Amino acid sequence: MTARILVIEDEDRIREFINRGLNYEGYRVDTAAYGQTGLDLARENPPDLVLLDLMLPGIDGLEVCRRLRAASDVPILMLTAKETIEDRVIGLDAGADDYLVKPFAFDELMARVRALLRRLQPTKPQVYRFDDLELDTGTRQGRRGDRTFDLTAKEYELLELFMRHPRQVLTREVIFDHVWDYDFGGESNIIEVYVRYLRQKTESNELPRLIHTVRGIGYVLREES
Ligand code: CA
Repeated sequence: MTARILVIEDEDRIREFINRGLNYEGYRVDTAAYGQTGLDLARENPPDLVLLDLMLPGIDGLEVCRRLRAASDVPILMLTAKETIEDRVIGLDAGADDYLVKPFAFDELMARVRALLRRLQPTKPQVYRFDDLELDTGTRQGRRGDRTFDLTAKEYELLELFMRHPRQVLTREVIFDHVWDYDFGGESNIIEVYVRYLRQKTESNELPRLIHTVRGIGYVLREES
């Protein structure tokens, strides 16, 4: 089914730019220039995703975000004019799932939209197992031997990718596409950083390594050889 996206943005030019682009991509789009109109539309036609401007006349974006969040789990992508840590934290605190700084390229917006919609796909909780490592998609916790560990959102996505493709070498590009969705640009070491986090969690008590580096290519989940 085609996803329905609600765009709440007071700037006509930006709202129309987003509306045209999303329509072109085949989404059903509702638009609102005011927070209250947006909240009314969300009640009448519950959206699958909300693109929400932070600075709105009347009820501002943060308040709209809180009210949407109080009523449903709909993913909310916040559009902010400036990138300050404070704006970001406040937006995420209010219940937004992600945020995008203006001006943005439409491609970047689409990458975020697809990523948020993908999370909606209903999947039955299951437990992936590899050697003595387990990953529970319901609790989103990992377990190695008799020790359970928590995972941050990105750690979870990365470990899930490995667990779904055991003994298969995953290139950096594949990992990037699946876990981060959009470009970090340049020579990012974000994958190395997250692999290190996962190793810390899966290798405690000197347990043998399961996530191995394949030099110059990427990583693979396999038993110690
Ligand atoms: Ca605005």
